[in-house]
Amino acid sequence: MKISPVFDKQPGKPIIIAGPCSAESEEQVLKTAKALAKQGIDCFRSGIWKPRTRPGSFEGVGAIGLNWLKRVKKETGLAVTTEVANREHVFEALKAGIDVLWLGARTTVNPFSVQEVADALKGVDIPVLIKNPINPDVKLWMGAIERIHKAGISKIGVIHRGFSSFGNSKYRNEPRWQLPIELKRNVPDIQIICDNSHICGRRDILASVAQKAMDLQFDGLMTEVHPTPDEAWSDAAQQITPAVFGKLVKGLKVREETTDDVAYLEHIDDLRHEIDDIDKDLFDLLGRRMKVAENIGIYKKKNNISILQTSRWNEILNRTIQKGREKGLSDGFVTQILTAIHQESINHQTQVMNEPVKKAAKKKKKAKA
Ligand code: PEP
Ligand code: MN
Repeated sequence: MKISPVFDKQPGKPIIIAGPCSAESEEQVLKTAKALAKQGIDCFRSGIWKPRTRPGSFEGVGAIGLNWLKRVKKETGLAVTTEVANREHVFEALKAGIDVLWLGARTTVNPFSVQEVADALKGVDIPVLIKNPINPDVKLWMGAIERIHKAGISKIGVIHRGFSSFGNSKYRNEPRWQLPIELKRNVPDIQIICDNSHICGRRDILASVAQKAMDLQFDGLMTEVHPTPDEAWSDAAQQITPAVFGKLVKGLKVREETTDDVAYLEHIDDLRHEIDDIDKDLFDLLGRRMKVAENIGIYKKKNNISILQTSRWNEILNRTIQKGREKGLSDGFVTQILTAIHQESINHQTQVMNEPVKKAAKKKKKAKA
């Protein structure tokens, strides 16, 4: 899949997309855009049609708001973007000369909607940003990229806006950083943008999430900005004023992906070799551990003992968590890694215990040798 970048990007400078969650009035849109234009942002965002979770909330001003975005373009020179979710939105947005379209999380999640948008885009050359689907399904996300790409769109970017989760969380939508990173590994030229507003759902952690995205080499940010955030008609709790947003962007530390400083390169190379050696040892050890697990399996089979003994598992887990703490490893990490190792051991044991006797004996002989 040949993807081209949506935005021109200068090294060391994130792509900045900002603007209100929703266009509410011509005055609100223009006021926000003028303040943001002064900050030199790359693109102005504003929702015209709002996909709301429940009916009765403000569902957007509709096509009339496109005229306000036209005025933004004319009076500030900023590129403008809005969300489209169906054929009619695409036609209206194209007619109004919107520069970039985006697909929202509630659209990406539905292949019928994505296909409808893709069909409406056939023969048109416009960049499209695709938000992650509501649920952490990287294939669904990839599928949306493919559908839009198949329609002939080559300038495609993605937006990580976090994933819906059940239960308490400090985030409105949990970020799963490894998913967009995995996506970028598969489609290296795709630009990845972090929508810190919909991840956070609140103002106080917007800056730290934006910084995290920079540290993970995201290409840019999409943030909701409103002149009077408390009065916003949608997503009030997460919006900030242009002034606060300006400070957030100024405070970002953008780290280089690499440098040509020879001393740095040599030192980092040494450290990476050390890591590679440790990884090799780790996997040698894991391989040995599985061999022992197989021998246990053979022995248990002979004595007609079950694979899983809960008490033994609890004992290993508690002991390892304790050891992990001494080494500065979190309980969650130790539990996750040990559970994976234990599952693999069970798989190996199950395999030898279900093998015909002769084969198992041979394996034992081989393991002994
Ligand atoms: C939005 O950007 O205002 C929006 C509705 O976002 P999402 O699709 O991420 O919920
Ligand atoms: Mn919003």
